[in-house]
Amino acid sequence: MDAISVEAALKMMEQALPLPGFENVPVQECAGRVAAADIVSPIDQPPFARSPLDGFAFRSEDVRGAHPERPARLQQVGYAPAGCKETFAVGPGQCVRIMTGGRIPADCDAVIGIEDASYADTSECDGAAAVLIYKEIGHHRNYVFAGEDFAKGDVLCRAGERIDAALAGCLAAAGFAAVPARRRPRVAILATGSEIAAPGSPLGCGKIYDSNSVYLQNRLRELGFDADAAVCADDPAQLKDLLSRRFGSFDLIITTGGVSVGDADHMPVVLADLGAKVLFHGVSLKPGSPLMLAEKDETRILCLSGNPYAAAATFELFARPLLAALSADPSLRMEEAEGVLADPFPKGSAAARYLRARLKDGLLYVPQGHSSGQLLSMAGCNCLAELPAGPGPHPAGELLNVYLI
Ligand code: AMP
Ligand code: MG
Repeated sequence: MDAISVEAALKMMEQALPLPGFENVPVQECAGRVAAADIVSPIDQPPFARSPLDGFAFRSEDVRGAHPERPARLQQVGYAPAGCKETFAVGPGQCVRIMTGGRIPADCDAVIGIEDASYADTSECDGAAAVLIYKEIGHHRNYVFAGEDFAKGDVLCRAGERIDAALAGCLAAAGFAAVPARRRPRVAILATGSEIAAPGSPLGCGKIYDSNSVYLQNRLRELGFDADAAVCADDPAQLKDLLSRRFGSFDLIITTGGVSVGDADHMPVVLADLGAKVLFHGVSLKPGSPLMLAEKDETRILCLSGNPYAAAATFELFARPLLAALSADPSLRMEEAEGVLADPFPKGSAAARYLRARLKDGLLYVPQGHSSGQLLSMAGCNCLAELPAGPGPHPAGELLNVYLI
């Protein structure tokens, strides 16, 4: 199969249809999810007029002209802390002591803070507490209206909108325990290679520790996905078994290693044997050109090179738009920007090359160590810079397209 262009491969990722179906997700966990329906508030928030401070509620006309030398004197007829169910009738010349979050009685139109009031001799107030108010205050001062945040019937979020933590809080404030969200792709990682050993195990001769599945699992978690991860030797029977057991249970299987043309690269043959349809094998880019996309029934299989940086770069370039399309969540795609090379880059390339780099104030800093087997130099990078195909060297100051990771 001939290598296809980056653009053609990306188009296939972007054209994937969103997964059908939705699930009710508890509001505690819904940030990062895409709403599957318009969500309308069944209540006002706050549900009642409330006090924004600790003080006294009354009719503002009763404190007109009040000042420190001539305070207004009101009779306290109730106490309304937050959560208080009692309803108070507050007549002219009367007040209630109220705490932040308490319901403002219907007869009252203003609240004053306790620092502008004090208790006086109770004898003139029929035994009830007499309150001196030292300041006049206008209509609806310190008065939080019912529905200040949002009103009953307001659309809190539209179908297709990504829910963030603030919106999750609002959905809870509207009383929802769970909300309908689009189904998330179920993702499995399969790191292949007879040389790879689990971190923490003794390292045998000829072995290396598996960094790819750890990279991918962490990266997926950063993007909001839990992924299953497993490893597999370069053994067609084991590969067949592990892959076939994942079809149907996962929407996307991301493999690393064994996808090139070496003797131990069994992925293309095994996938064909399992009846998977190969959509492409080979993309004109560096690194990670043996990239392959296949599908078997409803499961997509994205096969990345085993080289750690190649796997990381092609995950960003291709898995992210695929995840974005399957999740109907465009925010999963990389943002594009531009930057200029801070230093010359020595090599040219027959295909576009994606360099790990750090973009800061418009300048691209490319770390030493840019081979596809090196991962450490990617730590701290915040983008992939696209060097177009062509002869090198690339001079400092060259303007490049950048994908933020
Ligand atoms: P492959 O794509 O299988 O030809 O592997 C390319 C290179 O990546 C080889 O040097 C492998 O040893 C290395 N490699 C493959 N899988 C992993 C992995 N999971 N973690 C770290 N390096 C790997
Ligand atoms: Mg290999």
